[in-house]
Amino acid sequence: MNGPHPGFDGRCLVGGLQDYVSPRRGVRRHYNGAPMAEEASARSGRVAIIGRPNVGKSTLLNSLLGQKLAIATPTPGTTRSMLLGVYVQSRPPTQIAFVDTPGMHRPHNALGRALQEDAKAGLSNADVIVLVTEVGKSASPQSFLTGQDADVLAQLADVSAPVVLVINKVDRLKNKSALLPLIERANKQHSFAALVPLSALRRDNLPALVSALREHLPEGLAYDGDLLTDKPQRFFASELVREAVLTHTREEVPHGVAVLVDNFEESPQLNRVAATIVVSKDAHKGIVIGRGGERIKRIGSDARVAMETLFERKVFLELWVKVKENWSDSEAALRQLGYE
Ligand code: GDP
Ligand code: MG
Repeated sequence: MNGPHPGFDGRCLVGGLQDYVSPRRGVRRHYNGAPMAEEASARSGRVAIIGRPNVGKSTLLNSLLGQKLAIATPTPGTTRSMLLGVYVQSRPPTQIAFVDTPGMHRPHNALGRALQEDAKAGLSNADVIVLVTEVGKSASPQSFLTGQDADVLAQLADVSAPVVLVINKVDRLKNKSALLPLIERANKQHSFAALVPLSALRRDNLPALVSALREHLPEGLAYDGDLLTDKPQRFFASELVREAVLTHTREEVPHGVAVLVDNFEESPQLNRVAATIVVSKDAHKGIVIGRGGERIKRIGSDARVAMETLFERKVFLELWVKVKENWSDSEAALRQLGYE
């Protein structure tokens, strides 16, 4: 391996545009002028995940954290609870620290005096509680939220944090209308802040859970600093560039786009960001750059404005475009680009 990006072809400095591939004629698409979504404020907080064994808590966490390249190092939060990982998204800016609440997974233990105290402490620290249950194989409403589920629910009786009920494994249902009696039953059982049917395994409806949780989180980004090191800002920078590319390019390009942040320098007045847009085909490079560099200018300008809003300071953004043939098929390239 030689240099930081082995296998990549020559770099193209956007702005100077000395060596960009001539874009094909006729590929330029007019910017559709769609208004950018209104900036939502940043939110972050702690979410305790509870539920009886085997309902899919671990699968849910993995799906949530894997999907957005979150920081998933298991870090002990307090002696009483284990931080499982922080879900991070850039639009709208959100950080969700998922915590494991001791005792609550094992109702036998949780019903014991000591563990019950620990579990209560973990729950009282949480901004939101996610109670995970599943659609039973029979999907019968009579057995829904009974037994061990009911035991876990009983422990929430005097917890003030809102409880979101996740009804996992909806992929088992041939007909989604079978959910209605389950939802009806759940609403009789407890006053849930939200009910989210989803499939953790198939990654179906996960964004609905994130939005439901977000609503109950305090404003601000709490997990800057030691917990997430320098990753979040770089991560947001990369996501915002990628988002701008997706907004401005034709359908064929986005699937093959990755954004690599080469340099990220922070100062109180200005963040300097240099990023490389990696595309998988030569033709896509021309499309991303646009005639006379018009498109890449718009991409850069949108991404810069979004970063300035998020980082609350001026941003100097330098973009490069490189071709890495079929990068998404190469494991080494994926690792380099930050995908596991
Ligand atoms: P936990 O004990 O609550 O952490 O549950 P796990 O995440 O270990 O999952 C228990 C089992 O349920 C595993 O075999 C998973 O593959 C399965 N599972 C998890 N989520 C889903 C889902 O959405 N649909 C289906 N059909 N199975 C799931
Ligand atoms: Mg588990």
